Amino acid sequence: MSQDEAVREIKERIDIVELVGDVVPLRKVGKNFRGLCPFHAEKTPSFYVSPDRQTFHCYGCGRGGDIFSFVMEKEGLSFPEALETLAERAGVRLARRTGNRRSLSEVMELALAFYRETLLGPSGEPARRYLESRSLPPPAWSRFELGWAPPAWDGLWNWLRGKGVSRQEAISCGLIIEGQKGDYDRFRGRVIFPIRDIAGKLTAFGGRILSGEGAKYINSPEGPLFNKRSLLYLLPAAKGPIREKGEAILVEGYMDALRLHLCGFHNAVATLGTSLTTEQAALLKRMSDRVLICYDSDAAGQDATLRGMSLLQNEGLEVRVVELPRGKDPDELLASVGGDGLFGQALSRAMPLPLYHVHARREALAGPGRKKAVEEILAGLAELPMLDLVPYLGAIASSLGIFSHQLSELLNLRQGQKKGSPPPEKRDSALSGVLVKEGQRNPAEDLPDSLESALLYLLWKCPERRAAAAPEALLPLFGDERIQGAVAALLNGEPPESLRKIWYETGNRFLGSALAAGGDFCEAFGDPNEAWQKIETGLRKRNAEKEYRILREKMTRGLATSEEMSRLNWLARMLKGRR
Ligand SMILES: [Zn+2]
Repeated sequence: MSQDEAVREIKERIDIVELVGDVVPLRKVGKNFRGLCPFHAEKTPSFYVSPDRQTFHCYGCGRGGDIFSFVMEKEGLSFPEALETLAERAGVRLARRTGNRRSLSEVMELALAFYRETLLGPSGEPARRYLESRSLPPPAWSRFELGWAPPAWDGLWNWLRGKGVSRQEAISCGLIIEGQKGDYDRFRGRVIFPIRDIAGKLTAFGGRILSGEGAKYINSPEGPLFNKRSLLYLLPAAKGPIREKGEAILVEGYMDALRLHLCGFHNAVATLGTSLTTEQAALLKRMSDRVLICYDSDAAGQDATLRGMSLLQNEGLEVRVVELPRGKDPDELLASVGGDGLFGQALSRAMPLPLYHVHARREALAGPGRKKAVEEILAGLAELPMLDLVPYLGAIASSLGIFSHQLSELLNLRQGQKKGSPPPEKRDSALSGVLVKEGQRNPAEDLPDSLESALLYLLWKCPERRAAAAPEALLPLFGDERIQGAVAALLNGEPPESLRKIWYETGNRFLGSALAAGGDFCEAFGDPNEAWQKIETGLRKRNAEKEYRILREKMTRGLATSEEMSRLNWLARMLKGRR
């Protein structure tokens, strides 16, 4: 192939959005993608990639070009070097190669060719039967490059030797194992799933045993090619869709990931049978803002799994947990009749991680293990960034039977404790303290806010209004956590009388006076509906002004992100319109 042909071929095979997206986090804006320029320091993204024109351009420093200029600029390469790098990535063979050493990934590709051929050959019969029984038809075998490692001790090794692969190369690739009686194949009698890195390079295999002894699944060993901490199964196929949707679906098994792709959920990836790692979390964060966790229902609530999810949330991703019907994994559900619909419903009901912590322990909370469950929930929540918890404090507090300000105090204590401050005794006494009675506050600085009190009062008086209110829209309006907690409890179905009783029993005078103040305030309006309207609008405006002031301050100090800048502009326009 001539160099011109090679360049054309490479440009056809490599998408600039993927190439650039592997090193620069990109977000879709209209037809194009935008990110922070990798060539100059900036806080507001002015670096654009056009999928139509297959070019990039930075409005800040003026750099721009195609995939070749990008690699040359980014890696400091000459054109021939960039050509070689991209040819490797695209799988295009150049006329003259520097040196003739075979790369390890070429050895891996040879092995994959063997496995795929064997699946279709006479010895692949049991594997083909198995795949068909799992509702994976032949077109899926080739689409996902599935293979079969025959049960023989050295089927692959003999074949590789015939292709001139050295013993050292095969060992480095983790394909053969040195034994006392000679070298033998690592994967025997297993269905083979090839694992490629984000750039599509083949770096490992996963193998599922069909019968006999041995672990159900094994992976290639860690080695020069394979670092399983930073791999996700099917990532090369999923990365485009993940970027497009700004959302990834994370499953546990190879089969689950395959099934999701077959059913049209192209943004699905699987962990490699281990708990999530920070590397995987960072990888996902580069491409998306949200991850839907879709494990089978038995695994999802377990501590290790919850910790993995916290890792994602701490990486800055919004984590939601998809709950499947009991005992089903995604593969089973989707392969069953009507499974598509059920799965889609489950996705749309995915629960924010903070709420899931409570949900996962709902049975223990209702039983004799309640105290332990509360402890575990608090410990789990304390692992999450406080900012991510705030929207859910009211709802969580009411499920735990405490007020939301108490919940946030408990969490603050725990988070502080992780950083080395207050000792355990302090924490425990604080816990029993707030669970028994309301803490002491200075009455002089403790006047209930009239707008918030009025809203509480209107909800208190009117069951229809409580039934019609949307908690997620209403709760963020409250600045006082105590009023917010009471409103959350009301919206959660707690009868007003029983709330009043709790306040009496716990010596809480604040909420009683808030109710009274709210009643006074509402008297000024004849019609409660008009009062509701005015008060809600007033609170929204006040919150918008507060947010405006905070962002304004951030902007003045040069700390605002581009999202915050556009939010600031939006708030300014909105507040101006309201005046
Ligand atoms: Zn730039």
